[in-house]
Amino acid sequence: MPLRFYNTLTQRVEGFAPLTGNTVRMYTCGPTVWNFAHIGNLRTFTFVDILRRWLRYRGYQLDHVMNITDVDDRIIQQALAAGQSLGEYTAAYTKAFLDDAALLRLERPERLTPATEHIDAMVKLIAGLRQRGCTYESEGSIYFRIASFREYGKLSHTDFSGIRAGTRVDTDRYDKADARDFALWKAPKPGEPFWESELGPGRPGWHIECSAMAMHYLGDTLDIHGGGIDLVFPHHENEIAQSEGLTGKPFARFWLHAEHLILESQTMSKSLGNFITLRDVLAQGYPPEAIRYLLASVPYRKRLNFTADSPKAAATAVERLRNFELRLKTEKFPAGESEWLAARAEQARQRFEEGMDDDLNTAEALAAVFEFVREANTAMDAGDFRSANVAPALDLLERFDRIFDVLRPSERAGGLSDAAVEALIAERAQARARRDFARADQIRKQLAEQGVILEDTKDGTRWKRH
Ligand code: AMP
Ligand code: ZN
Repeated sequence: MPLRFYNTLTQRVEGFAPLTGNTVRMYTCGPTVWNFAHIGNLRTFTFVDILRRWLRYRGYQLDHVMNITDVDDRIIQQALAAGQSLGEYTAAYTKAFLDDAALLRLERPERLTPATEHIDAMVKLIAGLRQRGCTYESEGSIYFRIASFREYGKLSHTDFSGIRAGTRVDTDRYDKADARDFALWKAPKPGEPFWESELGPGRPGWHIECSAMAMHYLGDTLDIHGGGIDLVFPHHENEIAQSEGLTGKPFARFWLHAEHLILESQTMSKSLGNFITLRDVLAQGYPPEAIRYLLASVPYRKRLNFTADSPKAAATAVERLRNFELRLKTEKFPAGESEWLAARAEQARQRFEEGMDDDLNTAEALAAVFEFVREANTAMDAGDFRSANVAPALDLLERFDRIFDVLRPSERAGGLSDAAVEALIAERAQARARRDFARADQIRKQLAEQGVILEDTKDGTRWKRH
């Protein structure tokens, strides 16, 4: 069965291939850099990374654009409160996002680019919509007239025909119950940043940003557009209205949305105040690969319930795979081949690929790998694993890791394994016993750089990660 995805637009699972050639033209909504990303946000970005990697595994090339929303209502509010310019304020959170993405090994999209560098493209798009009669002005702001787009509601599968024409909403984020004509270009309020343009002074709404950047780089019709499930309405519904209102062509063929990460059964959200950042989890001593594994292991259309135990279980799973890889690379196995095991490796590879092809069913793909690892470990213990079984087992792990990318330990804080920490502490104790305090201090410093804190007690040295 070929590669297929669930398409929010058609509400069906459909076979996927790019419209033209071998390159997938894809746009995914990026972070709003008004604060640190929480791990719910990072779940969605990890889904996008898995999607990228699987498309490439299947032989496609990518032209993937992701925006960084560096101007919106919340950013302006926060920057004003902090007495900083927009650029100053967003630089720190943009960097924090890039750091998080690097820790989680998220590939860089081919183009990752801030909204404020594309104001011209947004103005052009709004001017085009104005010419087509899709907009109107009120008090210096320009609104999209949703009555001008007959298919409004087709992505969220909602009938909005009862909405009274001419009622407006000024914020970018609102519920279906508040669906109205939305702002494309917002008149500046006193003290707020704005751009001069042929539309008059103002700043873009959030929705126009993505339509403009997507079409600027990728053309009128994208292969894939994606983001978190909360973006279906109003953000993506409005993007469709803006883009198709202008071109009359389908804006995106496939719409993919990741379900939310929830924390103890409540959606993680900054406005609800119940959010955890990657830094928070890493501070508990978990390696970033374990968090990557955790975020990737639940299929993207299922909710991910994050509990206090989740990172630990993920770290254990990663450790099992690393131990298996280590055995494959270091143990001596009897010559020859166990045919049944060779067949199991082949079946595992097929099941892994079929799982991923099936709308990125990562749980199924992982089950295939772990079942093989369990059987192979048992066979090794029983002397039934032969030297010719090594290469196919390593090949399976390599395919797994091309997507999941967790086998290589990180070098930064928390990347040092417990055994490595213990070994260094033992070496430090020996150095102290022979009064080599320079070496002992050097080891303490080295561990501190890895985020490991030592505490000398009368019963010996205790340690923890910070
Ligand atoms: P934002 O920075 O608010 O623009 O959101 C960045 C991405 O995170 C968007 O694709 C959102 O849909 C997504 N998102 C927001 N909350 C969650 C959550 N609790 N779980 C998963 N994804 C989320
Ligand atoms: Zn967007």
